[in-house]
Amino acid sequence: MSQPGSDPADPLAWDHTARTQRRMFGQLAWVGTLACLGTLAFQWPSPTPRDLIALPLLTALLLGLLLCVRRRWIGLIPAARGALLGLTVYFLVGLWPWPGSGGGYLSLLSESTYWFPVLYAGAYLLFAPREALQWSAVTYLLALAICLYRLFWGPEARSVDLAASVMQFQIVGLIMILMQATFGAQRGQLLAARQAARQDPLTGLANRRAGEERLAELAHAGRPFILVVFDLDHFKAVNDTHGHAVGDRVLQMTARLSRELLPPGGVATRWGGEEFLLILPPLEPGALRTLLAALRTRLAQERVDGVRGVTASFGVAVSMPGEAPERVVARADAAMYAAKAHGRDGVQHAEPSPAGQVGAGLDA
Ligand code: GH3
Ligand code: MG
Ligand code: MG
Repeated sequence: MSQPGSDPADPLAWDHTARTQRRMFGQLAWVGTLACLGTLAFQWPSPTPRDLIALPLLTALLLGLLLCVRRRWIGLIPAARGALLGLTVYFLVGLWPWPGSGGGYLSLLSESTYWFPVLYAGAYLLFAPREALQWSAVTYLLALAICLYRLFWGPEARSVDLAASVMQFQIVGLIMILMQATFGAQRGQLLAARQAARQDPLTGLANRRAGEERLAELAHAGRPFILVVFDLDHFKAVNDTHGHAVGDRVLQMTARLSRELLPPGGVATRWGGEEFLLILPPLEPGALRTLLAALRTRLAQERVDGVRGVTASFGVAVSMPGEAPERVVARADAAMYAAKAHGRDGVQHAEPSPAGQVGAGLDA
């Protein structure tokens, strides 16, 4: 499923949606665990044989998946799908007319039926609309098969009450699936629109708006960061000499290199035109130097339709505690212009002073 934030190759993978979903999965897993244990406690000392086996298994599944997600052994979406599968099996099994459930057959469907709308909604949350429809349809048909068995061959076969509750259960199920299909399509469009609003169409990098959101998030969380602003040198000449389409491909190549060399936790954005902004986590000076050197070397080495030896001017600023992100951007920007003024193809570090004066330290 194309969920922003769930794919490590996604340029917007830092998106807060991923963290919200992770937190939500944790909360749901704990609620599910408490519900399983609560049900067992409620039935104690004579739980149904089914629940005595199934509820501890379900609890183990939920907690196991939660552990795997926390340790990052598996992704959030596969874990949530595993939980949905476990719940679906449990509630389907719950539809079966087990001897001893409710002290004799009640000629009604079990309490499991309450949960099927949740299973259908879960499918549309966790799968793309077409897969969700398939998942829901399989769940629906299995439930229908069990209901038909009960209606015609089960111990309470041909009960009118049972027929009435089966009919309502199936109709509600169909309505839920149809409603979820509509919501699923709308949700897909919303996600696509949200992604488009935050991604640069030419390079696929996060755009300025997404970059500003990321900076605001970091500032809000009080987390330090390093900004690298770089602007391609004499890029107008590339357009003038080779044409706009070639210029576009040079920008795409620059974006690709930025992404390839980005350290974990970093975000590369196209800040505007031929200017890029890298939002980096705190790095050792040596690691930052290595990163910049690699980027500059790779830029110079790449060949795009006869264009080679691309250079850029870099400005670097390290955020200071309490400093507004716009201020850090302004310092990095000023440093980049200082690098231009020093003859381009170089790196200039902003002074780490609240006054934001640009310092000398030029790395050629
Ligand atoms: P400097 O070294 O001072 O940065 O010189 P420059 O030529 O790179 O800077 P200038 O601001 O004069 O020109 C930037 C050029 O970048 C002009 C503009 O047409 C081009 N540009 C901006 N966005 C795009 C784009 O999306 N595609 C292409 N092909 N060119 C673009
Ligand atoms: Mg330029
Ligand atoms: Mg520029």
